[in-house]
Amino acid sequence: MTIDQYLPPKRTIMTPGPVEADPRVLRAMSSPILGQFDPAFTSMMNEVMESLRKVFRTNNHWAFPIDGTSRSGLEAVLCSIIQPGDKVFIPIFGRFGQLLTEIAERYGAEIHTLECEWGQVFDPQDVINEIENVKPKIVAAVHGETSTGCMQPLKEIGKACRNMNILFVVDAVATIGGTEVNVDEWFIDAAIGGTQKCLSVPSGMAPITYNERIEEVVNARKKVERGIATSDDNKTKGNQPPITSNYFDLSQLQDYWSPRRLNHHTEATSMLYALHEGIRIVLEEGLEYRFYRHQQHEQALKTGVESMGLAIYVNHQWKLPVVTCVEIPEGINADGVRQMMLNQFGVEIASSFGPLHGKIWRIGTMGYSCRKENVLFVLTALEASLSYYGADIKKGRAMQAALTFYTSEETAKERG
Ligand SMILES: *Cc1c(COP(=O)(O)O)cnc(C)c1O
Repeated sequence: MTIDQYLPPKRTIMTPGPVEADPRVLRAMSSPILGQFDPAFTSMMNEVMESLRKVFRTNNHWAFPIDGTSRSGLEAVLCSIIQPGDKVFIPIFGRFGQLLTEIAERYGAEIHTLECEWGQVFDPQDVINEIENVKPKIVAAVHGETSTGCMQPLKEIGKACRNMNILFVVDAVATIGGTEVNVDEWFIDAAIGGTQKCLSVPSGMAPITYNERIEEVVNARKKVERGIATSDDNKTKGNQPPITSNYFDLSQLQDYWSPRRLNHHTEATSMLYALHEGIRIVLEEGLEYRFYRHQQHEQALKTGVESMGLAIYVNHQWKLPVVTCVEIPEGINADGVRQMMLNQFGVEIASSFGPLHGKIWRIGTMGYSCRKENVLFVLTALEASLSYYGADIKKGRAMQAALTFYTSEETAKERG
């Protein structure tokens, strides 16, 4: 039996992840494998730590990736700090807030939540009031909710947590590298990023960072594995029960990401090459310019969508700049439209979860996918497919609106 070589079709990916990987990242991934203790490799590991600190805007010592998709980063942080019975408070404004609950619950947390309507964010003061009531050990919150296209302001919540000596954990999976995430300024104790969204690296790693407040909790649970522990290790064992996950045990991962290089898992070599190159691109572009670029393409997309006469689902101050949710016109075959975009144009946009399923499409403008030709193409494909399915839209305007936006921006730039 022979199997044909797999050649993926060419796509324009405009979903909230995974997005198109930067070609430079794909090239880096085809580099030869190095041993995980080879100094050529470990010095690259140190560079990844150093550059991740810049991307997270933190002075934290700990900044390294967890091998696994973004939720592995969420799980590593949560399982390393939660002990059974610990109170964890989670403000939920979409599907990924629910995910934090799911993970924390499995590690035995006593869960407290506050929910708001999907499509909205919380007034930070409401969250703070509830935190004062509950007095949790940990507050875990999502920054950019890709399920609803909203972004929660975090600084006031972070500050309140710090004042009350509560650990503040943030899912910044969708926002890192696309819009501001200021770990230190916002008093975030642990933040988790994603690769396949605004960093334009394939899915499979979760960069995290955390401070001494988290490290203290982790070290109290430290245990070095049988077979590699020395007699000194057995003397310095933490006084708290060990972390219940072996793979996600941050105390062990710290030893691996420190000069001791104590063996844990085998580092995902090619993924680390990818992350190294991905972050290099982010820092080369500059965070501020990168955020500006994401905003520009978001504007162009929004202008185009609105010119068609379609409504944007979340259009308030706290819209997530890297995801634009479009309301599906009444009576339209939503899956038909999306399939036509994919099959005829090779353009992918996302449907949605839970209560929003069938109500909105979600269009991402993230990382390498966030560029002019992609925005123009997704608008073309959307308009044509909607027209094909008989939607009552204003035809021929979207492209002109986006082109006008881009050319006037370009003229403004030329004039300086
Ligand atoms: C995509 C996403 C995740 C999950 O990431 P995986 O890489 O699929 O594990 C978590 N949180 C948010 C906010 C996301 O957008």
